[in-house]
Amino acid sequence: MRRPQVVPDASLPTSVTVYEVGPRDGLQNEDAVVPAAVKVELVRRLLDAGLPVVEATSLVHPRWVPQLADAEEVLGLLVDGLGDRARDLPVLVPNARGLDRALDLGLRHVAVFASATETFARRNLNTGLDEQWAMFEPVVSRALDAGMRVRGYVSMCFGDPWEGAVPLPQVVTAVRRLVDLGVWEVSLGDTIGVGTPGHVVRLLDSLNVAGVPDSVLALHAHDTYGQALANVLAALRHGVSTFDASAGGLGGCPYAESATGNLATEDLVWMLDGLGIATGVSLEPLVATSVWLGERLGKPSPSRVVRALSGVSV
Ligand code: MG
Repeated sequence: MRRPQVVPDASLPTSVTVYEVGPRDGLQNEDAVVPAAVKVELVRRLLDAGLPVVEATSLVHPRWVPQLADAEEVLGLLVDGLGDRARDLPVLVPNARGLDRALDLGLRHVAVFASATETFARRNLNTGLDEQWAMFEPVVSRALDAGMRVRGYVSMCFGDPWEGAVPLPQVVTAVRRLVDLGVWEVSLGDTIGVGTPGHVVRLLDSLNVAGVPDSVLALHAHDTYGQALANVLAALRHGVSTFDASAGGLGGCPYAESATGNLATEDLVWMLDGLGIATGVSLEPLVATSVWLGERLGKPSPSRVVRALSGVSV
């Protein structure tokens, strides 16, 4: 398999954590509903490809996200196949009911999803921002009391499809609030992919000034407008060393008529490989996994790297 020539940049970190969101964020935004056995196989193959973190599913109400209605079945099969370590795979919990389900399953790592904007909170969570925090605070504190690790997401950090530009202080407030609740990491979501590198730097600067260091931040870039890797590189230069990505670019953009949403894990790993930055991820099994999944979804991966390395045409 072709590889990029490795030309390191001494100003960048020597290793990066790739946080794989395909089985959750990817599949929840695909029209096709795949069987539980395929989801389990996907998680297993991603772990085998060396991904250090794979977010397995979401304990959301099946009516909201029918694609992930089989979350309990998937998690049960993962525990059967992987043993107890499957309980360390992060799982999204949208509310108190989701946390109850996670506790029943004995999970040890959950993620909560907050909005930076009022409109998206209303559309996604059916609450305003004040109610969003009133709902999250007991969920996070109960999860921490139970000994769980809790990751926080903030969506619409770089723009909102209904509100347009999102003021930086509004994003900083949301991130700060999650950090104060005790989450171990906050993922900054460019949910509609409108961020550009200067904006990334400005947001990270503002967060640092507010006492939130890059070491507790991750970037969740979307490639809707082709800016994902540029934004990753800007964040990497700033000091961020965890990046969310979705195998094969799984999951179109839910708020734009675009096939391209999540940054493809293969595209991210290709760039990091070229920079000589260790990720632990092997491109060959990862690309094979995305080709395999594309066959099951009935559509090829939109990832440039998957296409270039697999010869799949679109
Ligand atoms: Mg996403």
